Amino acid sequence: MYKLVSIGSVKPAKRLSLWDVLDLMEEILRSWRVPSCVRVRDSEVVEGVEVYWALRNLGASLLPVGSETNCSVSLEKLGFFDDVSPRRDTRVYHDIRDLLRASWPTPLLQLKSYSNDTIRVWAKLEWYNPISLSIKDRTAWWILESLNEYTRIKGKVVADATSSNFGIALAALARKYGGRARIYLPKSAGQLGRKVARLMGGEVFEEGGDMTVDLIPRVVEDSKRHGYVHANQFMNDENFIAHLRFTAKEIHFQARESRLKLAGIAGSVGTSGHMAAIEFYFRSVAGGEFRVIAAQPARGDTIPGIRRTETGMVWLNLISKNIEVIDVTLEESLEAIKKVAREDGILIGPSGGAALAALEKFVGEGADTMEDYVAIIPDTGYKYLDML
Ligand code: PLP
Repeated sequence: MYKLVSIGSVKPAKRLSLWDVLDLMEEILRSWRVPSCVRVRDSEVVEGVEVYWALRNLGASLLPVGSETNCSVSLEKLGFFDDVSPRRDTRVYHDIRDLLRASWPTPLLQLKSYSNDTIRVWAKLEWYNPISLSIKDRTAWWILESLNEYTRIKGKVVADATSSNFGIALAALARKYGGRARIYLPKSAGQLGRKVARLMGGEVFEEGGDMTVDLIPRVVEDSKRHGYVHANQFMNDENFIAHLRFTAKEIHFQARESRLKLAGIAGSVGTSGHMAAIEFYFRSVAGGEFRVIAAQPARGDTIPGIRRTETGMVWLNLISKNIEVIDVTLEESLEAIKKVAREDGILIGPSGGAALAALEKFVGEGADTMEDYVAIIPDTGYKYLDML
C-alpha cells in the first residue's frame, strides 16, 4: 500500500542534479509509471530520493509514499498534467508571476499556410507569455524560482548574458523576488532589448561580443568580483527542466486532449533549452520514430535569438539523440513569416519562421496518412519590423 502526498509538503534528504536522475526520468516517461515509492520520515524523503527528484523535475504534483519495494504508480495518479492544464478562473491576478502561469498552455494555432491533405502544422504561440512576449519568460521565471529556493535573491543582483528576450524577462522578474538584474547584451542586440530591459528595471551592459556567448566570461568575472548571482541560462539545468515540465508537457497534453496524431515538432536553438527538453520528452514517451527538427542559421547568416549548434550547446550535445538539425537562411525565415502573415493572419518572429522553413525542408512531400506537426514560434514579428 502507498499513499499520495503533495510533493511540496516534503523535503529531500539531499539535492540531486539533473544528471543524477536523467536515466530514471527517461524510464518514468517511457513506462508512464514510477518504479518504486519513497519513504518519508518527519517530512523528509529518506529513501527514494532519486524518485523524488525525477518526479519533481518532471513536474508531478504528488509523490507515492510507502514501504513496499514493489509499488508502481501511474503518472496519471500523480497529477502529472496538473501544472499544464488550462485554469478556469476570472483572469484577475495580483502578480505577474500568476499571470505568467495562467498563460499556459500557450495556444496551438493551425497554420493553413503549411498544412495540406496529409499534414497539419500547428504553431505554438510563445508570445502569449506576458513579460518578454517570448518563450524566455518560462526560462527566466523557473531559473529565478530555483535560485531563490537555494540562494535567496532578495537584495542581490542576478546577472546573465542574453540576446534580449531572456534579459527582459529576467529584468522584470528579478524585482519580483526583491533583487535586480544586470544583463549583458551583444553588439547584435537591437534597440528593443536595451530599452525594454531598462524600462523593466534592469541594468544593461553593452560593450562587447558579437555573439551572446562571447559575453559569458565577462559575466562570470563580474559575478565573482561583485557577488552577482549568475543565472547562467546557457548551462543552468533549470533551463532544460523548465521546458521539460512545462513546454514539452504542454504540447503532449494539448495533442492528447485534441486527439492529434503528433508525428514531430520543429523549433530553433539558442541555448538549446527548449528543443533538447522537447526531444528528451518525446523520445521517451513516443519512441525513436518521433521526429524533432531544429533550425540553425545557415553559415554566414544571422537570425535573432538562435545560433549554429557547433558554437556549443550543452543539452543538445549531451542529451539529444534524435534531433535533425537543418540549416535555414535568413531569407527563408523571412519568406515563412510573410507566408504565415498573408495566409493565416498572424505575425511570427524570425526564429519561428526558421522553424517552419526547417520543417518544410524536412517533411518534403508529406506523409501517406494524416499527421500533425507542431512548430515552436518563440516570439512575435512585431519586434522585428525593421527586418521585414
Ligand atoms: N528564438 C528566440 C526569439 C529567442 O529569443 C531564443 C532564445 O533566446 C530562441 C529562439 C532559442 O531558445 P533556446 O535558448 O531555448 O534554445
